[in-house]
Amino acid sequence: MCGVFGIFNHPEAANLSYLGLHALQHRGQESAGVVSCDKDTLHAVRKMGLVSDIFTERRLARLPGKLAIGHVRYTTSGGSLPKNIQPLTAEYREGAVAIAHNGNLVNAEQLRVELEADGAIFASNSDTEVIIQLLARRNDPDIVTRLRSALSRVRGAYSLVMIADGKLIAVRDPHGFRPLVLGRMKGQPDTYVVASETCAFDLIAAERIRDIEPGEILVIGGDEIRSVMVPRVARRACIFEHVYFARPDSSLDDVSVYNARIKMGRQLALESPVDADVVIPVPDSGVVAAMGYAHQSGLPFEMGLIRNHYVGRTFIEPKDSIRHFGVKLKLNPVPGLLTGKRVVVVDDSIVRGTTSNKIVKMLRDAGAAEIHVRVSSPPINGPCFYGIDTPNRDELVASRKSPDEVAKAIGADSVAHLSAEGLLASVGAGGDETYCTACFTGEYPLRITRQPPRRQLRLVEV
Ligand code: 5GP
Ligand code: SF4
Ligand code: MG
Repeated sequence: MCGVFGIFNHPEAANLSYLGLHALQHRGQESAGVVSCDKDTLHAVRKMGLVSDIFTERRLARLPGKLAIGHVRYTTSGGSLPKNIQPLTAEYREGAVAIAHNGNLVNAEQLRVELEADGAIFASNSDTEVIIQLLARRNDPDIVTRLRSALSRVRGAYSLVMIADGKLIAVRDPHGFRPLVLGRMKGQPDTYVVASETCAFDLIAAERIRDIEPGEILVIGGDEIRSVMVPRVARRACIFEHVYFARPDSSLDDVSVYNARIKMGRQLALESPVDADVVIPVPDSGVVAAMGYAHQSGLPFEMGLIRNHYVGRTFIEPKDSIRHFGVKLKLNPVPGLLTGKRVVVVDDSIVRGTTSNKIVKMLRDAGAAEIHVRVSSPPINGPCFYGIDTPNRDELVASRKSPDEVAKAIGADSVAHLSAEGLLASVGAGGDETYCTACFTGEYPLRITRQPPRRQLRLVEV
């Protein structure tokens, strides 16, 4: 998962990119970068770490110009290495380009082997660099023509924000797996912004115009705005953006994430009711669905678990010394609140099952009489090839166990998931035509093409 941002025609382009990335920080916490364009020069700041740590006043002052793009990264393809931090940049025949990518290409390995056979030199392990290499091999004065031709070779998930030819370019793959939305600064009709989610617009006082369409290449430059569409295929927006990835204050393809999660919780209560005393969420990701569950069931809603928001990724867990330390760092039950209660605990998803296991034990220790786990998505039993870092199939608990077996294994009185139909209805899908549901239905819109492993020297910066 990653977040992308871009802004055209604003004197504080870099500062606003920084704010936009700050609002998109939940989409990736490993590294971040901003590239600005001033006259004929691109300026880049890219570092490992969180947005607020990277972009000091001094660094932002080194990013001049009225055009900028930014990226927050969570590694899905290529290693978590400095050379893979985005936006990626390169200089080729037509000058410097910068590109920020959310998603995963399913044929990147194959294309890389082909390009290398043709003499291409790669500076990163990122699948995104394949797009730059393909672009550099196209011979046409028009950037849209070059880009269209390059992207015709590429299959997979890509929401892109680019700087090329002094223009801001936004692209969404023909399936529209990952979100991308267009807006403009309020009161400044010629200042355009693009972002992964609308919550980035709210912070900088921009307004949403519309989502970038699946298969659209939008070029904003000089005095032109040009939109070109590649041939359409079935729209396959990732349904997990609604379940978990996106912020609830965002809208995706004009559907409110908050409303969708409320409906998921309501539907979950209809499908899997429980005779219980209280509904509590696993914060933060389970909060809105838990509210929906409480509304529908008429049960009281309580914040039974309190989250510590300052848990850093660098914290070292002491070995063996304290049981369940990992989740205790993050969550703690309110003393007394759950004693003797029959508790419904709502979370957005179960992946490996380790979180719910620890939470059930924590709630038992807090004196809960019964614990019923309710999950606002179907069991995840397959990997994602489209930009989400899900583990291998055998690490997914639902690929090995039924919900009842999971309940037994984690010591819950029951475990139940929202049905696929219930989830689709909650996001307002007319049929299963409009969303990707592959990681729980096995219906993969695109298959990944893997290359046999190659014995080569690798470069790792330390
Ligand atoms: P697990 O079952 O592996 O312990 O973790 C499930 C929890 O991890 C959920 O509460 C969810 O909020 C969170 N989570 C973190 N990363 C991901 C992800 O990539 N996909 C999903 N579905 N949930 C994730
Ligand atoms: Fe989203 Fe799952 Fe499809 Fe990946 S496989 S894009 S996580 S719905
Ligand atoms: Mg969670």
